[in-house]
Amino acid sequence: MKAMVLHAPHEPLRLEERPNPVAGPGEIVVRVEACAVCRTDLHVVDGDLTEPKLPLVPGHEIVGIVESVGVGGALAPGRRVGIPWLGHTCGCCGYCQTGRENLCDNPGFTGYTRDGGFASHVVADEAYAFPLDGFSDPVAAAPLMCAGLIGWRSLKMAGEGKRIGIYGFGAAAHIIAQVCVFQGREVYAFTRTGDEAAQALARSLGAVWVGSSQESPPVPLDAAIIFAPVGDLVPAALRAVAKGGRVVCGGIYMSDIPQFPYSILWGERQILSVANLTRADAIEFLELAPRAGVTTTTTVYPLEKANEALDDLRAGRFQGAAVLVP
Ligand SMILES: [Zn+2]
Ligand SMILES: [Zn+2]
Repeated sequence: MKAMVLHAPHEPLRLEERPNPVAGPGEIVVRVEACAVCRTDLHVVDGDLTEPKLPLVPGHEIVGIVESVGVGGALAPGRRVGIPWLGHTCGCCGYCQTGRENLCDNPGFTGYTRDGGFASHVVADEAYAFPLDGFSDPVAAAPLMCAGLIGWRSLKMAGEGKRIGIYGFGAAAHIIAQVCVFQGREVYAFTRTGDEAAQALARSLGAVWVGSSQESPPVPLDAAIIFAPVGDLVPAALRAVAKGGRVVCGGIYMSDIPQFPYSILWGERQILSVANLTRADAIEFLELAPRAGVTTTTTVYPLEKANEALDDLRAGRFQGAAVLVP
């Protein structure tokens, strides 16, 4: 098999040949068809997330075909599956036992503490892979596996309000905006100043208002979701939400949040973060996405160009999601 491998933070990934993997008990070997590139991969490569296994194959938005199944496995070879960030949980900690496996004390994360999908093949714990029988296009489905799933969990955390602000209009936002429209909500899209391509994408997906993150929306929002890793957006979003409104931080990493006056939190406004996902989130979202007619905007790179895809994500050079194809 071939893989793009990280040996140390801040270094480019290296293309390597490795022996073909073997599925252990409860595991599957999957031939990767597509793996989307997430901002979290950038935070791993750039050393913002400090505990990756090394060397590491990044990538946690994997779509592929089951090639072999370990002892006791139930998934049949030939079946298309998706493999997300949540790669394993302990099943016995207090969080796992109360339906909050996303907060597990002893988790495994695909492309961070386990090898991921920037490769031709990946080994996964079968219990954390999801059949994608209804999804015929692996490239289009790949961004659903994190941008979609984390976006969905973020939207659930935002509550039932009608007016939803989205800060940072990248891969997660472009998926979740479509879900909001499907649910009859109004999307207020905030982008970097002058990012006309992102603003056009937001408008095309049904946003009722599009502006820069410096601007105030025309009406107070019921909730705001921040996908950009920019702490300055937290006070901006607090100022944009109405009394009782929630500000949901959807990323795994964010720059420091500046000091702000208590008055903008007052009125039972809340700030929340979203950590990882549960398998229940994935089952819900993968059922909802086709019903909501979610489509993804993708830019395809050959696997060997993973470094270029990461650079382009860092620089904001494409809309939607980058997807690697082996
Ligand atoms: Zn646990
Ligand atoms: Zn991700």
